[in-house]
Amino acid sequence: MASFQHVHIPEGDLIKVENNQLVVGDNPIVGKLRGDGIGLDIFPVMEHVVDKAIQKAYGGKRQIVWCPIYCGLEGLQHYGEVLPAESIEAIQYLKVAIKGPFTTPIGEETHVCLSCAHQQMHEGTCDSCKRDDSVAPRFRSINVGLRQAMDLYACVRPVRYFEGVPAPNKYAENVNFVIFRENTEDVYAGHDFERGSQTAKAIIDLIAKETGRTIRADSGIGVKPISETGSKRLVRKALEWAVQNNLPSVTLVHKGNIMKFTEGSFAKWGYEVGSDEFASQTLSEKVLWDKFDGKMPEGKILIKDRIADSIFQQIQTRPAEYSILASPNLNGDYLSDAAIALVGGLGLGPGANIGETVALFEATHGTAPKYTGQDKVNPGSLILSAEMMLRHMGWPEAADLLLNGMRAAIKDGQVTYDLARLMRAEGRADVNELPSSGFGKAIVDRM
Ligand code: NAD
Repeated sequence: MASFQHVHIPEGDLIKVENNQLVVGDNPIVGKLRGDGIGLDIFPVMEHVVDKAIQKAYGGKRQIVWCPIYCGLEGLQHYGEVLPAESIEAIQYLKVAIKGPFTTPIGEETHVCLSCAHQQMHEGTCDSCKRDDSVAPRFRSINVGLRQAMDLYACVRPVRYFEGVPAPNKYAENVNFVIFRENTEDVYAGHDFERGSQTAKAIIDLIAKETGRTIRADSGIGVKPISETGSKRLVRKALEWAVQNNLPSVTLVHKGNIMKFTEGSFAKWGYEVGSDEFASQTLSEKVLWDKFDGKMPEGKILIKDRIADSIFQQIQTRPAEYSILASPNLNGDYLSDAAIALVGGLGLGPGANIGETVALFEATHGTAPKYTGQDKVNPGSLILSAEMMLRHMGWPEAADLLLNGMRAAIKDGQVTYDLARLMRAEGRADVNELPSSGFGKAIVDRM
């Protein structure tokens, strides 16, 4: 066992990766990062629901051993910093972890309160919540820091409909797809240079010299790298997911009609992964029509591609035709939010960031500081992230119980304020507005 200063690894089975496969014992140690703000409210609800699902599925034979790891406010309290190196090491050591939301400073202010997210121009006591142990100097996003430090290159976002949730889309019932968004390249890489800066000028000059094309001198310049390595490993993850979960298709989403050598290459490399590494399990749309007259052979995964703008129409008009959508960063960013809106909003959208050996599951909403400590908000995103985690660990029976419990609770109108408000607005009279913990109990009661 490794030893850490503040992370105490409990008795249990270390999750290992052998021959590219996760090896999970009956008592796996899983990292937990509670997050800031409402993270503290929703985390215990998620743990309760997950523990109960596992108990029910395996009759006490299996159990998660939770291991606290500290970032954000808890990082500040334990280490004096919000993203301690030890926390990153501990997640890498444990291989699987789940996290709540973390405060991210967004304004010009020099300091931020990790308890209430207030931003101010001085250290010490928070001007808003008056705490004197929660103000930190401005820092870069903890979420981004975690992804970058561990090279968690695939952002995975399942999107699906829950019966009873008012959804704006006519075909919402057919929405059931998983978005794989590349996490490290494209505009996300941050090669963005201010108008008039030395780098912007140098790039403008280089392009003029090499190609004879002119760019206006008063332009800001962004560089959009998309590599074969980055594209292939993302599509590989998406295909592995499709194989493991018996899903029918992977759609490569790109803007290759305009950006041939970045977005277009993403699609080309994606097809290559299919033909080179998954030849017996996949076929392309071209082969489907050339050889099979458009009729999908049993058990195969169809690889297709769609131009990014058309996919925004397709997910609204023909959602049933899409299963996994794999995309470079920026398209994936827009697509994730647009897709979740189809089924009623972010409250029930889970997520994960996955690398070669480490997977970090996460609530996709923020810290909602105005509701912190009130046992009020919807823990659904974190609970469904835990459902993904259970499947990742190879415990689908527990994942199914959890998912069915949540489906039933929502269908019965046993929900938190956010869903209750939407359901009542649709004219439903039998809705019972519950606190976060009550929603967790309603899920467990229905497993
Ligand atoms: P937010 O997601 O915290 O809140 C947006 C709105 O959604 C608010 O009205 C909030 O009350 C509501 N809301 C959020 N989660 C909810 C839930 N589980 N149940 C019911 N209602 C919920 O976004 P924000 O206000 O823009 O950001 C607050 C803080 O969170 C900021 O510091 C921001 O940077 C951070 N943030 C973190 C993450 C993350 O860690 N992944 C994501 C987004 C924002």
